[in-house]
Amino acid sequence: MYSESDVLFEKSKKYMPGGVNSPVRAFNAVHRNPVFIDRAEGSRIFDVDGNEYIDYVCSWGPGILGHSRREVIEAVQGACAKGLTFGAPTRNEYVLAEMVQEMMPAIEMLRLVSSGTEAVMSAIRAARGFTGRDKIVKFRGCYHGHSDGLLVKAGSGALTQSVPDSLGVPEDYTRNTLVAEYNDIASVVKLFEEYGGDIAAVIVEPVAANMGVVLPKEGFLEGLRQISDKYHSLLIFDEVITGFRLSSGGAQAYFGVKPDLTTLGKIIGGGMPMAAYGGRKEIMEVVAPLGSVYQAGTLSGNPVATTAGIETLKLLRQEPGLYSRIEENTKKIADTVRETFGNRVCVNQIGSLMSVFFTGGEVTDYESAVQSDTEAYAEYFNYMLGRGIYLAPSQFEAMFISSAHSGADIQRTCEVIQDAEMAMPKF
Ligand SMILES: *Cc1c(COP(=O)(O)O)cnc(C)c1O
Repeated sequence: MYSESDVLFEKSKKYMPGGVNSPVRAFNAVHRNPVFIDRAEGSRIFDVDGNEYIDYVCSWGPGILGHSRREVIEAVQGACAKGLTFGAPTRNEYVLAEMVQEMMPAIEMLRLVSSGTEAVMSAIRAARGFTGRDKIVKFRGCYHGHSDGLLVKAGSGALTQSVPDSLGVPEDYTRNTLVAEYNDIASVVKLFEEYGGDIAAVIVEPVAANMGVVLPKEGFLEGLRQISDKYHSLLIFDEVITGFRLSSGGAQAYFGVKPDLTTLGKIIGGGMPMAAYGGRKEIMEVVAPLGSVYQAGTLSGNPVATTAGIETLKLLRQEPGLYSRIEENTKKIADTVRETFGNRVCVNQIGSLMSVFFTGGEVTDYESAVQSDTEAYAEYFNYMLGRGIYLAPSQFEAMFISSAHSGADIQRTCEVIQDAEMAMPKF
């Protein structure tokens, strides 16, 4: 018996690599076909076979208000009626930039782009243009989009040797990307001692959320700030996930550490393709047409996308206690998993982000994250999906909780988690 999702997947595979337009959607890590989504509302997504799920992927982060929030949809419909794109400046772009500046004061000036990948790639170009230096430091396990220079892994042995992590990336493109260990300041110090004068920037996810959720240890982000200052390098917070999620001011407000540049994506587009990079005015002034760092985009600052973004940020600012409410709900799920699975799992949680790692050890970096039993996760995922709970189809992705998840949704989810433990005898 084939479901409509299965039929669509077979057809899609004929025309698109793996049948999808972003690899994780193919569900490879959980050994089953993906479900094809027809529509979504609030905390729920509905597949083409009419199944309903409580959604904890939330489009990988944008859906902090849940799906199809009426105010956002209506505003977008209004914007569509006025035209989809003009390739000329609009009022919206200024309104959105001003809102972002108010919510994240470190972003004195910004540039809107269309994806997180583009935001990070451009921020790094600006950092290099401003400092006149070529090298950057990134952390193993942190993801910053798929631009060539960031698709690196640490080479065997020497920490300082990085090699491409994808076919098609010339080694020349990754030569200037140095790789350090997350939560390990000593590994950063070592790189700076060797290359300090050549390092344009350190880029970090202030909460790592692309190897599963990994929290920064006390002092880690402050340490990055200090060492960047010492060597006159820039500190870039990649807040594509954490921006407007950990708090209305992002991770930088949550932890009280001020980066020089910030990249935003996901929530800022309110579900439309939009992202941004920005920071200190003197740095952003190197960007064209003011300065000589070239960066452009046909659909940048698109009127429909900015409308969705403005409306989303407005709602986030309006609802008092929104962030503490979704954090409480997230904690309830985290506590239930801990009580149910005990020391067979490590649950990392902060704000409305969490991950269940199927490992007995603590997860504090890439090395400890990959100790997880990915087959146990696949079993857990499949059980949950069968019971109407849609989790990320990979051990190394975050679970996203939205303001649309009700108390009843959370309670139902906790019950199914308890049942999952009993349904996993092998583990
Ligand atoms: C998703 C993500 C990106 C890339 O954003 P895209 O819009 O998928 O290109 C970059 N950095 C982080 C931290 C992300 O989570």
